[in-house]
Amino acid sequence: MKPIESISVFDMLKIGVGPSSSHTLGPWRAGLQFLKLLLNNKAETKVVKISVDLYGSLSLTGKGHATDIALMMGLSGADPVTYPIDQITPEITRIKSEKNIILDYSLALSELQGAGLTKRSLSPEELSTHQITFDPATDIVFHRSFLDFHPNGMHFTASLEGGKTVEQSYYSIGGGFVVTQERKRGKRKIEALSHFPYPIQKGTELLDYCAATGLKVSEIVRANERSLRTDQEINDGLDQIWATMLDSMYVGCHTEGVLPGGLNVARRAYDTHKSLIGETSYSDPVEWIKAIRSTEVKFRQILKWVSCFALAVNEVNASLGRIVTAPTNGSAGVIPAVMMYYIVIENHDANLDDVRQYLMVAGEIGSLFKKGATISAALGGCQAEIGVSSAMAAGALTELMGGTPAQVLMAAEIAMEHHLGLTCDPIGGLVQIPCIERNAMGAIKAINACEMALDADPTKAKVPLDKVIATMWETAQDMTSKYKETSTGGLAIQVNISDC
Ligand code: SF4
Repeated sequence: MKPIESISVFDMLKIGVGPSSSHTLGPWRAGLQFLKLLLNNKAETKVVKISVDLYGSLSLTGKGHATDIALMMGLSGADPVTYPIDQITPEITRIKSEKNIILDYSLALSELQGAGLTKRSLSPEELSTHQITFDPATDIVFHRSFLDFHPNGMHFTASLEGGKTVEQSYYSIGGGFVVTQERKRGKRKIEALSHFPYPIQKGTELLDYCAATGLKVSEIVRANERSLRTDQEINDGLDQIWATMLDSMYVGCHTEGVLPGGLNVARRAYDTHKSLIGETSYSDPVEWIKAIRSTEVKFRQILKWVSCFALAVNEVNASLGRIVTAPTNGSAGVIPAVMMYYIVIENHDANLDDVRQYLMVAGEIGSLFKKGATISAALGGCQAEIGVSSAMAAGALTELMGGTPAQVLMAAEIAMEHHLGLTCDPIGGLVQIPCIERNAMGAIKAINACEMALDADPTKAKVPLDKVIATMWETAQDMTSKYKETSTGGLAIQVNISDC
């Protein structure tokens, strides 16, 4: 039997830094992986120079997506989950002006040790004081050509004392996932050995497990997660993800001004939020939720609140803030906005158990798309980002609303069906237009898809989820590269930056 990839909910939902999962978080992680490679080669203090070549989509939209910044942060050994956001710009400014980078191996070594891949230990000096000259203007090279393996390719070269080199190509395949060509094969071997108790490749298999066990989708997911970590670890991890999502909504709703990058896009969540919340006072995100619950909500306000939450997250993302990649950075607003809708509009008694349930279902639906199609805009356009996030949110909301597993999958199918063919054409290569508004649209569609599925008999559905996933993948392959995160078609060329 073909081995089934075991994708954890924590692979699908990752805490990271904006603006792009494939162009920012992926390259950041690639920089960290290269540090691990240097450690494995015992070359950490012998490095005298590092250069990085960027190819394809990473090169064509890399500057707008802060790929160069992410590479420098990765090579500096910074953790994208915890590194203080307000220290990124000063550190990048320092690297550019002093033309040097300090290779800090602390995180890379602890990850290798944690995975049982090394028994090495290094002194504090060896870990974090090795400085090399590095000028991003010449040491990061943007090529217009593509590497064969994947549109998001990058090649790292380290020159060592004595003239030897350490080299590696990495591919950012969407959602912050980074692979090497060789390791992709190796990874498959590991995955073949690490079966979940409920291995799932397709929606039909998920439904069969639910029918055979009487478990909900979220309960199947938890059973699988238990093969990797304890319940306490699962809950702590999910709570941390939700805290980051909530914080990104809170920060976005309370920050005014113009987004960076040169398009002069005004932040909009601030004004919409101000008009909705009125004079109600609160001092933190928890009190904020109570305050929102006390506001009057009719249909228009509900639309505005959901849109506002989604806009807020993606404005934070566009300003290189901390968000949860869900399943990508460009689509990071959909899943938090729909959860927040449930908490502040639909169920005022909602608690962390509901959040955990929601995130687990969302993660499972995202993994079905990753296995059967793609979550990379460079391979599938925006249907792979906003379409997938909307499907994830629709299915997850449906379970919270009491839907059956079949209705959960039906909601996910409806949400994707109406995103099929959606292209990726960000103006100026920035994750701003059309990206930010698209999250609001994806969130609203998710809620609508949920309601339609709750009112429907899934046995009468004409389009099963697996068919829509297959259709999405076929559409992705038919789509020209102009619409796959290259900013060479659509809005990206119809609208000039000078118009903005
Ligand atoms: S258009 Fe869609 S896929 Fe492309 S960068 Fe924006 S959100 Fe991502």
